[in-house]
Amino acid sequence: MIKHKIIKKEVKEKVVDKAFCSFCGKEFDEVTTSFNGFGSLYFHFGYGSDFDDDRFELEICDDCFLKRYYKLLKKQFKEKGYDKKDLKEMEERIKK
Ligand SMILES: [Zn+2]
Repeated sequence: MIKHKIIKKEVKEKVVDKAFCSFCGKEFDEVTTSFNGFGSLYFHFGYGSDFDDDRFELEICDDCFLKRYYKLLKKQFKEKGYDKKDLKEMEERIKK
């Protein structure tokens, strides 16, 4: 038989306080930070690479994402349903 009792516990939790774009250094605003409204890049290298089983993580803002990866990911944007207007807006945004 088990008897339970109620105890008061202090719980410490690690939460994101501030977040910055790893590429341009811009600090994300409070809302963006609290909702993780930024991109996260994860790299995991397998056995045999020069970075044998290492993992890396970067945060990226929307502007840096488009500037660095738009051309690389254009096909995937189309596959995800972004139309010609969306793509044109992205291309214009990159030029700024
Ligand atoms: Zn950035």
